[in-house]
Amino acid sequence: MPENNNPDALLEVIHLTKYFPIEEGFLRKQVGAVKAVDDVSLYINEGETFGLVGESGCGKTTLGRCIVRAIDSTSGSIYLKLDTGERLDLSRMTNKELREVRKHFHMIFQDPYGSLDPRMTILDIVGEPIRNNNLATGDEVIEMVKSLLNDVGLEIKHLNRYPHAFSGGQRQRIGIARSLAPRPSLIVCDEPVSALDVSIQAQILNLLEELQEQYNLTYLFIAHDLAVVEHIADRIGVMYVGKLVEMASTADLYSQPLHPYTEALLSAVPSTNPDVKMERIILPGEIADPSSTPTGCYFHPRCPYAQELCAEETPQWKEVAPEHYVACHYAEELELKGVELQY
Ligand code: SF4
Repeated sequence: MPENNNPDALLEVIHLTKYFPIEEGFLRKQVGAVKAVDDVSLYINEGETFGLVGESGCGKTTLGRCIVRAIDSTSGSIYLKLDTGERLDLSRMTNKELREVRKHFHMIFQDPYGSLDPRMTILDIVGEPIRNNNLATGDEVIEMVKSLLNDVGLEIKHLNRYPHAFSGGQRQRIGIARSLAPRPSLIVCDEPVSALDVSIQAQILNLLEELQEQYNLTYLFIAHDLAVVEHIADRIGVMYVGKLVEMASTADLYSQPLHPYTEALLSAVPSTNPDVKMERIILPGEIADPSSTPTGCYFHPRCPYAQELCAEETPQWKEVAPEHYVACHYAEELELKGVELQY
């Protein structure tokens, strides 16, 4: 994807990398690096949900944390478009500049137990970003918190309770209310349902969809499998060892995957149609070590279609069909199996 290809997108990430140095010895000499995010470019349009998928350790959470500037990226750009049309490069901002714009983006965490301060009441937890961003004072804050609790399906009587009094699903609702408080345009949802019971997962996904419409939100939705994002995502990016290997609309990615790793992930999505028998592709070996990546295509030691070139040359990121990007030498030649969308 060429630089600044999508100036109208709400979020555009260009050639982003995050390397964690590996240091050794008394003088902490750098002897290597963990390539957690390795030259990732993607864009998310206003009002859409972008699903980011990959095995545990592939760098998707690190990418999300770089985008909301919870950690600094090593290189690359992160453009966020404001309501005014102004495009900010978050990656270049100082902490002082970031304080002014933090209200525009927020992150919801996987662990609803660990992400809420147990010593704060719900009023304080949800009211804090309202006060910090000078959006209201005094009784107005209480009214705004009540309205937010109502929007996420919690009762007003919960206002003065502490997080330990709530179930996992309710705590995630509190986390969502807190993230909505400063009226952000972008929310990064880091596996927000994976710690919840299956019966609660659908409720939270439905709530996120309702709030998206009500608050005109754009989501980056991080998940470790395609089954969860199928329900909610308009477009999907697939990550493998710090790299984005495929990006397309949910419909195209499901019906016509162009990367062998996507095909393997799709083969693990359970079908609700009893007539459809999908043969699960079991990949050999383990996901590569991001501190010692394979030569050429990082996926080649596990790829059922690998050829000599795959171990020698890094495949280029290219647009093979409209809005369908992939990094595979043989994307145009392989005939990979997709699956039927179930939603
Ligand atoms: Fe497989 Fe080669 Fe394509 Fe990599 S470049 S996904 S190893 S076919």
